[in-house]
Amino acid sequence: MVLDAAGRPLSDLERPAPKPERGQVLVEVEACAICRTDLHIADGELERPALPLVLGHQAVGTILSMGKGVGRSVGERVGVPWLGWTDGTCAYCTSGRENLCPEARFTGYDLDGGYAERLVADARFCLSIPDAFGPLEAAPLLCAGAIGYRALRLGGDGRRLGLYGFGNAARIVTQVALDQGREVFAFTRPGDEQTQRVALQLGCVWAGDSTEPSPEPLDAAILFAAVGDLVPLALAGVAPGGTVVCAEIHMSDIPSFPYGLLWRERVLRSVANLTRRDGEELLTVAARIPVRTQVRTFRLARANEAIEATRRGSPETVVLVP
Ligand SMILES: [Zn+2]
Ligand SMILES: [Zn+2]
Repeated sequence: MVLDAAGRPLSDLERPAPKPERGQVLVEVEACAICRTDLHIADGELERPALPLVLGHQAVGTILSMGKGVGRSVGERVGVPWLGWTDGTCAYCTSGRENLCPEARFTGYDLDGGYAERLVADARFCLSIPDAFGPLEAAPLLCAGAIGYRALRLGGDGRRLGLYGFGNAARIVTQVALDQGREVFAFTRPGDEQTQRVALQLGCVWAGDSTEPSPEPLDAAILFAAVGDLVPLALAGVAPGGTVVCAEIHMSDIPSFPYGLLWRERVLRSVANLTRRDGEELLTVAARIPVRTQVRTFRLARANEAIEATRRGSPETVVLVP
């Protein structure tokens, strides 16, 4: 399913299967979860998609064949995440921050992704899928889960964690945070009682409207909503020394706010992309807990409907299956 131009539906095309070059694997896709970033790309909100483009960076499948120099085996199940390639030599890559590599290429953005029956990927950036997970269970973990996990880590070790926006990423993070012994406070769209109930059922100690003040000072807050207005609200909710992490790739403008909200060593930061370590750690932790995700499947040929379902805010992660 190919994106020819921003703002247009994907076209259903037959293309010859790509051939794996040196260091690459050819993967038969079993499932590809849709991420909100895919919507931002399809809508033209991100700058430079390599059009025509196959979207999709939460792909899970099995290796069909490979080029030379690949230390994996045919039939192995792998995940193909957002970070698809880095130069390996820059100051970021050589200091454990490959997510910031200026030459990085991203799956489903610079490189063709998983809204397809087959894709090629650099074997070094594929993630091994634990046996505990089938393709439908693993796919939502590759971006929503791994970004959430990175955001959780960057928010520090504090006990009281606020999550603004309680979609799929927040639901995964909640399960990991509870396993770590934290308390989770869920802030949803005002009046969204259904999502607040889901949050409480998952084990959050509190759920309420994002416009409400936090019932307790938070040690960290993670924003999973692309709404800049939430930033001052979240800052107001964190205790001195606390961190607010913006986990979205795209966000509306942040309104100005008094310095007092940041004063006393509060930290405001973003999370950009993922390292391989984030993905590997999250998959390991998720398999141990085990983290559960709710999915809703669409056939690949119905990708446009699946995208619209995601846009409307599906309570389940939308996953394409061939
Ligand atoms: Zn680099
Ligand atoms: Zn994503």
